[in-house]
Amino acid sequence: MAEIRPWPRAGGATPPATASSIATLIALARDRQRIVAFTGAGISTESGIPDYRGPGGVWERQAPPTIGDFRGNPETRREYWEGRRTRYPTLAAAQPNAGHRALAHLEAVGLLTYVLTQNIDGLHQAAGNSPDRVIELHGTAHRIRCLDCGRTWDAWQIQIRLDAGDIVPTCDVCGGPLRAATILFGEALPRETLQRAIAAARDSDLMLVVGSSLIVNPAARLPLIAKRSGALVALINRTPTALDPLADVLVVGESGPTLSALTAALIGERHSPPSS
Ligand code: ZN
Repeated sequence: MAEIRPWPRAGGATPPATASSIATLIALARDRQRIVAFTGAGISTESGIPDYRGPGGVWERQAPPTIGDFRGNPETRREYWEGRRTRYPTLAAAQPNAGHRALAHLEAVGLLTYVLTQNIDGLHQAAGNSPDRVIELHGTAHRIRCLDCGRTWDAWQIQIRLDAGDIVPTCDVCGGPLRAATILFGEALPRETLQRAIAAARDSDLMLVVGSSLIVNPAARLPLIAKRSGALVALINRTPTALDPLADVLVVGESGPTLSALTAALIGERHSPPSS
Protein backbone atom coordinates (compact mmCIF):
# COMPACT_ATOMS: atom_id res chain seq x y z
CA MET A 1 0.00 0.00 0.00
CA ALA A 2 1.45 3.29 -1.04
CA GLU A 3 -0.04 5.50 1.58
CA ILE A 4 -1.96 5.29 4.81
CA ARG A 5 -3.86 8.26 6.15
CA PRO A 6 -6.07 8.51 9.20
CA TRP A 7 -9.70 7.97 8.27
CA PRO A 8 -12.12 10.85 8.61
CA ARG A 9 -14.12 10.71 11.81
CA ALA A 10 -17.70 9.56 11.47
CA GLY A 11 -19.92 12.48 10.55
CA GLY A 12 -16.97 14.68 9.67
CA ALA A 13 -16.43 16.30 6.29
CA THR A 14 -14.44 14.28 3.79
CA PRO A 15 -10.96 15.74 3.49
CA PRO A 16 -9.61 16.34 0.00
CA ALA A 17 -7.35 13.59 -1.28
CA THR A 18 -3.72 14.46 -0.74
CA ALA A 19 -1.62 15.54 -3.70
CA SER A 20 0.88 12.82 -2.88
CA SER A 21 -1.71 10.03 -2.97
CA ILE A 22 -2.99 11.30 -6.33
CA ALA A 23 0.58 11.50 -7.63
CA THR A 24 1.12 7.88 -6.57
CA LEU A 25 -2.08 6.89 -8.38
CA ILE A 26 -0.97 8.66 -11.56
CA ALA A 27 2.45 7.01 -11.45
CA LEU A 28 0.79 3.64 -11.00
CA ALA A 29 -1.63 4.18 -13.90
CA ARG A 30 1.03 5.33 -16.32
CA ASP A 31 1.54 2.74 -19.12
CA ARG A 32 -1.62 0.87 -18.17
CA GLN A 33 -3.66 0.04 -21.26
CA ARG A 34 -6.69 -1.89 -19.99
CA ILE A 35 -8.12 0.07 -17.11
CA VAL A 36 -11.39 -1.17 -15.61
CA ALA A 37 -13.38 0.98 -13.21
CA PHE A 38 -15.48 -0.64 -10.50
CA THR A 39 -17.87 1.95 -9.12
CA GLY A 40 -20.30 2.13 -6.21
CA ALA A 41 -22.63 4.67 -4.68
CA GLY A 42 -19.75 6.92 -3.64
CA ILE A 43 -19.12 8.10 -7.20
CA SER A 44 -22.70 9.34 -7.50
CA THR A 45 -23.05 11.13 -4.17
CA GLU A 46 -21.31 14.09 -5.85
CA SER A 47 -24.30 14.11 -8.25
CA GLY A 48 -26.68 14.44 -5.33
CA ILE A 49 -27.74 10.77 -5.22
CA PRO A 50 -27.64 9.57 -1.61
CA ASP A 51 -25.49 6.61 -0.67
CA TYR A 52 -27.86 3.80 0.30
CA ARG A 53 -25.82 2.98 3.36
CA GLY A 54 -24.69 6.43 4.39
CA PRO A 55 -26.31 8.54 7.09
CA GLY A 56 -29.67 9.74 5.84
CA GLY A 57 -29.43 7.24 2.98
CA VAL A 58 -32.39 5.49 1.48
CA TRP A 59 -31.95 2.44 3.68
CA GLU A 60 -32.23 4.45 6.84
CA ARG A 61 -35.64 5.74 5.83
CA GLN A 62 -37.07 2.73 4.00
CA ALA A 63 -35.58 -0.76 3.84
CA PRO A 64 -35.67 -2.16 0.31
CA PRO A 65 -38.01 -5.11 -0.16
CA THR A 66 -36.77 -8.63 -0.70
CA ILE A 67 -37.91 -10.38 -3.84
CA GLY A 68 -40.05 -12.82 -1.86
CA ASP A 69 -41.77 -10.01 0.00
CA PHE A 70 -42.30 -8.07 -3.21
CA ARG A 71 -43.98 -11.00 -4.94
CA GLY A 72 -46.03 -12.13 -1.98
CA ASN A 73 -47.21 -8.91 -0.35
CA PRO A 74 -49.52 -6.42 -2.12
CA GLU A 75 -48.78 -3.80 0.55
CA THR A 76 -45.05 -4.05 -0.21
CA ARG A 77 -45.76 -3.45 -3.89
CA ARG A 78 -47.99 -0.48 -3.07
CA GLU A 79 -45.29 1.10 -0.85
CA TYR A 80 -42.63 0.39 -3.47
CA TRP A 81 -44.56 2.12 -6.23
CA GLU A 82 -45.50 5.06 -4.03
CA GLY A 83 -41.82 5.58 -3.22
CA ARG A 84 -40.91 5.16 -6.84
CA ARG A 85 -43.53 7.69 -8.00
CA THR A 86 -42.12 10.37 -5.72
CA ARG A 87 -38.39 9.59 -6.02
CA TYR A 88 -37.80 8.58 -9.63
CA PRO A 89 -38.00 12.10 -11.12
CA THR A 90 -35.17 13.19 -8.78
CA LEU A 91 -33.01 10.25 -9.82
CA ALA A 92 -33.78 10.82 -13.49
CA ALA A 93 -32.79 14.50 -13.20
CA ALA A 94 -29.37 13.77 -11.68
CA GLN A 95 -26.42 14.76 -13.81
CA PRO A 96 -23.04 13.04 -14.14
CA ASN A 97 -20.24 14.68 -12.15
CA ALA A 98 -16.52 15.15 -12.75
CA GLY A 99 -15.80 11.54 -11.75
CA HIS A 100 -18.21 10.08 -14.31
CA ARG A 101 -16.92 12.44 -17.00
CA ALA A 102 -13.30 11.50 -16.28
CA LEU A 103 -14.06 7.81 -16.78
CA ALA A 104 -15.87 8.61 -20.05
CA HIS A 105 -12.76 10.48 -21.23
CA LEU A 106 -10.57 7.50 -20.37
CA GLU A 107 -12.77 5.28 -22.53
CA ALA A 108 -12.78 7.83 -25.37
CA VAL A 109 -8.98 7.76 -25.58
CA GLY A 110 -8.87 3.96 -25.46
CA LEU A 111 -7.46 3.50 -21.97
CA LEU A 112 -10.56 2.25 -20.17
CA THR A 113 -12.12 -1.01 -21.32
CA TYR A 114 -15.10 -1.40 -18.98
CA VAL A 115 -17.03 0.20 -16.16
CA LEU A 116 -18.42 -2.35 -13.71
CA THR A 117 -20.95 -0.57 -11.55
CA GLN A 118 -23.13 -1.35 -8.57
CA ASN A 119 -25.13 1.79 -9.33
CA ILE A 120 -28.53 1.77 -10.98
CA ASP A 121 -28.56 5.47 -11.89
CA GLY A 122 -27.29 5.32 -15.49
CA LEU A 123 -24.86 8.21 -14.93
CA HIS A 124 -21.89 6.48 -16.60
CA GLN A 125 -23.83 6.23 -19.87
CA ALA A 126 -25.08 9.79 -19.40
CA ALA A 127 -21.45 10.92 -19.09
CA GLY A 128 -20.56 9.27 -22.39
CA ASN A 129 -19.38 5.75 -21.62
CA SER A 130 -20.66 3.32 -24.28
CA PRO A 131 -23.65 1.33 -23.03
CA ASP A 132 -21.95 -1.90 -24.09
CA ARG A 133 -18.93 -1.01 -21.94
CA VAL A 134 -20.96 -0.36 -18.79
CA ILE A 135 -21.83 -3.55 -16.93
CA GLU A 136 -24.63 -2.77 -14.48
CA LEU A 137 -24.23 -5.44 -11.82
CA HIS A 138 -27.36 -4.46 -9.94
CA GLY A 139 -29.46 -3.56 -12.96
CA THR A 140 -30.94 -0.20 -13.86
CA ALA A 141 -33.59 2.07 -12.40
CA HIS A 142 -34.38 3.37 -15.87
CA ARG A 143 -36.15 0.22 -17.09
CA ILE A 144 -39.23 -1.46 -15.67
CA ARG A 145 -39.63 -5.22 -15.99
CA CYS A 146 -42.50 -7.67 -15.67
CA LEU A 147 -41.54 -10.33 -13.13
CA ASP A 148 -43.60 -12.96 -14.96
CA CYS A 149 -43.05 -12.49 -18.70
CA GLY A 150 -39.88 -10.39 -18.69
CA ARG A 151 -41.19 -7.64 -20.93
CA THR A 152 -39.53 -4.29 -20.21
CA TRP A 153 -40.53 -0.62 -20.53
CA ASP A 154 -38.76 2.68 -20.34
CA ALA A 155 -39.25 3.96 -16.78
CA TRP A 156 -41.03 7.11 -17.93
CA GLN A 157 -43.76 5.07 -19.64
CA ILE A 158 -44.67 3.60 -16.26
CA GLN A 159 -44.12 6.91 -14.45
CA ILE A 160 -46.85 8.44 -16.62
CA ARG A 161 -49.22 5.68 -15.51
CA LEU A 162 -48.34 6.28 -11.83
CA ASP A 163 -48.96 9.99 -12.17
CA ALA A 164 -52.30 9.23 -13.83
CA GLY A 165 -53.42 7.32 -10.72
CA ASP A 166 -52.34 3.72 -11.48
CA ILE A 167 -51.23 2.98 -7.91
CA VAL A 168 -49.70 -0.49 -8.50
CA PRO A 169 -49.07 -0.89 -12.23
CA THR A 170 -49.18 -4.39 -13.69
CA CYS A 171 -48.02 -5.86 -17.00
CA ASP A 172 -50.43 -4.99 -19.80
CA VAL A 173 -49.50 -8.22 -21.61
CA CYS A 174 -49.74 -10.88 -18.89
CA GLY A 175 -50.98 -9.02 -15.79
CA GLY A 176 -47.82 -9.88 -13.84
CA PRO A 177 -46.24 -7.64 -11.20
CA LEU A 178 -43.87 -4.91 -12.39
CA ARG A 179 -40.83 -3.42 -10.81
CA ALA A 180 -37.60 -1.69 -11.79
CA ALA A 181 -35.04 -3.84 -13.59
CA THR A 182 -32.80 -3.87 -10.52
CA ILE A 183 -31.54 -6.59 -8.24
CA LEU A 184 -33.36 -6.92 -4.93
CA PHE A 185 -32.20 -8.60 -1.74
CA GLY A 186 -32.49 -12.34 -2.08
CA GLU A 187 -32.02 -12.22 -5.83
CA ALA A 188 -28.99 -13.56 -7.67
CA LEU A 189 -27.12 -11.46 -10.18
CA PRO A 190 -27.90 -12.55 -13.74
CA ARG A 191 -25.27 -15.14 -14.66
CA GLU A 192 -24.34 -13.54 -17.96
CA THR A 193 -23.81 -10.13 -16.32
CA LEU A 194 -21.55 -11.60 -13.68
CA GLN A 195 -19.57 -13.61 -16.24
CA ARG A 196 -18.96 -10.51 -18.35
CA ALA A 197 -17.81 -8.59 -15.28
CA ILE A 198 -15.44 -11.39 -14.23
CA ALA A 199 -13.97 -11.54 -17.75
CA ALA A 200 -13.44 -7.76 -17.75
CA ALA A 201 -11.77 -7.91 -14.33
CA ARG A 202 -9.46 -10.74 -15.43
CA ASP A 203 -8.46 -8.86 -18.58
CA SER A 204 -7.69 -5.57 -16.81
CA ASP A 205 -4.21 -4.32 -15.93
CA LEU A 206 -5.49 -1.69 -13.51
CA MET A 207 -8.73 -1.73 -11.57
CA LEU A 208 -9.92 1.60 -10.19
CA VAL A 209 -12.33 0.90 -7.34
CA VAL A 210 -14.32 4.10 -6.84
CA GLY A 211 -16.80 4.80 -4.08
CA SER A 212 -17.70 1.21 -3.23
CA SER A 213 -17.92 -0.10 0.30
CA LEU A 214 -17.13 -3.54 -1.19
CA ILE A 215 -19.67 -5.18 1.08
CA VAL A 216 -22.17 -6.68 -1.32
CA ASN A 217 -21.09 -9.99 -2.83
CA PRO A 218 -20.47 -11.34 -5.37
CA ALA A 219 -19.67 -7.99 -6.97
CA ALA A 220 -17.25 -7.14 -4.19
CA ARG A 221 -15.07 -10.07 -5.24
CA LEU A 222 -14.24 -8.45 -8.58
CA PRO A 223 -11.25 -6.43 -7.30
CA LEU A 224 -9.83 -9.66 -5.85
CA ILE A 225 -10.27 -11.40 -9.20
CA ALA A 226 -8.44 -8.54 -10.95
CA LYS A 227 -5.63 -8.64 -8.41
CA ARG A 228 -5.16 -12.39 -8.76
CA SER A 229 -5.02 -11.97 -12.52
CA GLY A 230 -2.08 -9.61 -12.18
CA ALA A 231 -3.80 -6.22 -12.25
CA LEU A 232 -2.90 -3.36 -9.97
CA VAL A 233 -5.76 -2.23 -7.74
CA ALA A 234 -6.38 1.39 -6.73
CA LEU A 235 -9.02 2.22 -4.13
CA ILE A 236 -10.56 5.70 -4.23
CA ASN A 237 -12.95 5.90 -1.30
CA ARG A 238 -14.10 8.10 1.54
CA THR A 239 -14.28 5.26 4.06
CA PRO A 240 -12.29 2.10 4.82
CA THR A 241 -13.07 -1.20 3.13
CA ALA A 242 -12.14 -4.79 3.85
CA LEU A 243 -9.96 -4.82 0.74
CA ASP A 244 -7.76 -1.87 1.73
CA PRO A 245 -4.82 -4.17 2.56
CA LEU A 246 -4.64 -5.48 -1.01
CA ALA A 247 -4.66 -2.04 -2.64
CA ASP A 248 -1.56 -0.93 -4.51
CA VAL A 249 -2.62 2.63 -3.81
CA LEU A 250 -5.27 4.04 -1.50
CA VAL A 251 -6.69 7.50 -2.13
CA VAL A 252 -8.95 8.83 0.61
CA GLY A 253 -11.25 11.60 -0.55
CA GLU A 254 -13.89 12.67 -3.05
CA SER A 255 -13.71 10.76 -6.31
CA GLY A 256 -14.48 13.59 -8.76
CA PRO A 257 -11.34 15.67 -8.26
CA THR A 258 -9.16 12.55 -7.99
CA LEU A 259 -10.40 11.00 -11.24
CA SER A 260 -10.21 14.37 -13.02
CA ALA A 261 -6.56 14.75 -12.02
CA LEU A 262 -5.78 11.18 -13.04
CA THR A 263 -7.45 11.49 -16.42
CA ALA A 264 -5.90 14.87 -17.18
CA ALA A 265 -2.46 13.48 -16.42
CA LEU A 266 -2.90 10.31 -18.49
CA ILE A 267 -4.51 12.03 -21.47
CA GLY A 268 -2.00 14.88 -21.34
CA GLU A 269 0.89 12.45 -21.45
CA ARG A 270 -0.39 10.19 -24.20
CA HIS A 271 -2.42 12.55 -26.32
CA SER A 272 -0.48 15.78 -26.30
CA PRO A 273 -2.01 18.35 -28.64
CA PRO A 274 0.09 18.94 -31.75
CA SER A 275 2.45 21.86 -31.32
CA SER A 276 1.59 24.78 -33.57
ZN1 ZN B 1 -45.85 -9.68 -18.18
